[in-house]
Amino acid sequence: MTPKHLIQKARDFKLEPEGTRILRLWRWPRLLAMNIVVCVKQIPDPAAPQSFDSSNNLNRSGKLILDEADTYGVEMALQLVDKAGGGEVTVVSMGSSVDVAGLRNALAMGASKAVIVSDDSLRGSDALGTAKVLAAVIGRSPFDLVLAATESSDGYTGTTPVQVAELLGLPSITFAKAVSVEGSSLKVSRQTEAGYDEITAPLPALVTVTAGVVEPRYASFKGIMAAKSKPLEVLSVADLGLEGQVGAVGAREEIVSVVAAESRQSGEKYVDEGDGAQKVVAFLESIKVL
Ligand SMILES: Cc1cc2nc3c(=O)[nH]c(=O)nc-3n(C[C@H](O)[C@H](O)[C@H](O)COP(=O)(O)OP(=O)(O)OC[C@H]3O[C@@H](n4cnc5c(N)ncnc54)[C@H](O)[C@@H]3O)c2cc1C
Repeated sequence: MTPKHLIQKARDFKLEPEGTRILRLWRWPRLLAMNIVVCVKQIPDPAAPQSFDSSNNLNRSGKLILDEADTYGVEMALQLVDKAGGGEVTVVSMGSSVDVAGLRNALAMGASKAVIVSDDSLRGSDALGTAKVLAAVIGRSPFDLVLAATESSDGYTGTTPVQVAELLGLPSITFAKAVSVEGSSLKVSRQTEAGYDEITAPLPALVTVTAGVVEPRYASFKGIMAAKSKPLEVLSVADLGLEGQVGAVGAREEIVSVVAAESRQSGEKYVDEGDGAQKVVAFLESIKVL
């Protein structure tokens, strides 16, 4: 029997009655594990004033926090590993390692280890450069699933995860509202404008999760203390063999200007003087809703 068949067999045992499961767990303890990688971005605290450098890049030299959008991926991963009956969650990031409070937060929630790629030569990386770095880190060790948010809260091109999937040769499923694993397949309810797509994909795969896919836990005091001694690896571009391919040198995107978002116009108020309904209908007709 090939390792692939063994893994499939081991996963299928989760569906068997409790007594059988304990016996099989003993026989194939490692094969029941599910290893999940979560891409997490450390971003400047949105509550603090933001500034840009001369290349229109967001100034990330101050306090950094775990992007709230990524807490959903961390929680989802923890729940899937729990359901699988073993395995671990690894968080990976690209950015400055001067402040790693965001990664410690993910470790305090329950992730087992963190890896951050931090290097001066990454300055000016675009989304594809970021994806190359993340794919190189993720590809170093075997994994079952990669999770990311659909888009980050500070830059949000929403393109990084699918580029990671392409570079790793993985199926990618975006906008997940619900994720479950059955045997060696992944089941995802994918949010669309009209409703949901029900998707099945083989593992390993990459999934981007929306806010609300799960309710992220707060780190407990015990978790915060444990996080201090969990492994946090800092890698350079040279460690990944990506010299000359990422950073400003390899970037194909450039931020040409940054402008303030247009403020929203206040809505029109109708005072009902007996003709309120007609006014609303006329308005809906004018915007072609009716
Ligand atoms: C012109 C330009 C200049 C840049 N300059 C720099 C720079 O000087 N230094 C630098 O470090 N970066 C730089 N970046 C990279 C940038 O910070 C982002 O990491 C990258 O553009 C992707 O961010 P996004 O908001 O578009 O991600 P999205 O595609 O919106 O993010 C979706 C999800 O992908 C994952 N993800 C995205 N980015 C990261 C990440 N960095 N680490 C881990 N997971 C991630 C997260 O799960 C995130 O929620 C630059 C990007 C551009 C376009």
